Amino acid sequence: MISQRTTATRTTAAARTAVAAAALPTVAGAYVLAIRLDKPFVLRLAGRSAVSVSAGRYLYCGSARGPGGLRARVARHLRRRKTLRWHVDRLTTKGRVIAVWAVPDGDECALAAQLGGLPVPVPGFGSSDCAGCPSHLFAWPEGAVLPFGPPTVSRD
Ligand SMILES: [Zn+2]
Repeated sequence: MISQRTTATRTTAAARTAVAAAALPTVAGAYVLAIRLDKPFVLRLAGRSAVSVSAGRYLYCGSARGPGGLRARVARHLRRRKTLRWHVDRLTTKGRVIAVWAVPDGDECALAAQLGGLPVPVPGFGSSDCAGCPSHLFAWPEGAVLPFGPPTVSRD
């Protein structure tokens, strides 16, 4: 009985994820994820000191250049269950992606630069390969207005 209910819940969650991702284009580009974290957790990245990440809202800038473009990449971010591969996977498996801004042909570093006034909770997060970005992850305090229009995907 319990296992049946669990299966049904998972199917529904997967279906919702597919519907949300369908709003995204299949072209390459950049995106911003808004992630809500309800509980703090200790982030351990390879070769770095552990950092305590507070509960709250975060913004992550990334890019999608692979097959399926923005839709495939963001669909992966929307899934809670996955193998940890990128820094941001630590957040999307602990928290919930509540909004996505997709920018076809966009550049993740340009998006990060637009968010440059926001606090940087974990220096170097997602930006190990960047020349100039202090981080691709920012805290999003309540009341802070973003320089983007309405999100491509919103699910709260
Ligand atoms: Zn960058």
